Amino acid sequence: MERKSLADDSSLENQPAICPVENCTAMVKHTHLLRHMISEHLDARARTLPFQLRMREVVSGQSTLLMLTYRQLIVDHDQCLAVLNWCYHNPIDLMAPQLDLPPCHQGLSSHLPVLVMVCKTTWKALLKQNEDKLTNTSSRDLTNEWGTVYIIWLVSPYTRRPIYARFGILNSQSQCLELQNRRRIRNFASRMPISQFINGLDPFYVTINEEQLDELCDSRGNQASVFLDVTIEGPVE
Ligand SMILES: [Zn+2]
Repeated sequence: MERKSLADDSSLENQPAICPVENCTAMVKHTHLLRHMISEHLDARARTLPFQLRMREVVSGQSTLLMLTYRQLIVDHDQCLAVLNWCYHNPIDLMAPQLDLPPCHQGLSSHLPVLVMVCKTTWKALLKQNEDKLTNTSSRDLTNEWGTVYIIWLVSPYTRRPIYARFGILNSQSQCLELQNRRRIRNFASRMPISQFINGLDPFYVTINEEQLDELCDSRGNQASVFLDVTIEGPVE
């Protein structure tokens, strides 16, 4: 049976979309997400990210530890912590190749770029966003009310089948806090279903309260840090 090329897929899921990095308004094709991340966000001279973005090649089941100085995150700011270039044994079946990469990154063409995203916010801001989209109250004013919460999720270009990942949080003594079990990697072109997320039905996001992080963490204040453990498991075969 002849396989339909991904390039011919005209579904909305495969249309160019706004870059998932906060304050970047570039429209990015699914085949050019890695090129965009390398050229616009990975360069140490680029000022678009307050944290140094990491890039790494991973296979299924391989764990990546990312340091998270969580108190330093900007409120309501979608932060990209890393790009994990996931290697799959049969990529043609699953996703389109990444195109126009710089020569030194050509080897990543058949990998899936997975962006590790985190956002610090409050439950109140999330509920407000859901209830009243017209009100323009800054959520900065709300950070001391209700709890501060960290939302973690992964985005990638369109894939033919859902890809799953597992998350954990570790402290410097390798004490681990398991987060909600397996989560799906989200298509970067799809929008966040906030109401589903609040109802706990959403398959993409994990949440952790600041109190939980503080309990796990041995230092306090702005330097407080934990390690986010991300493992891409792959599709359900
Ligand atoms: Zn961007």
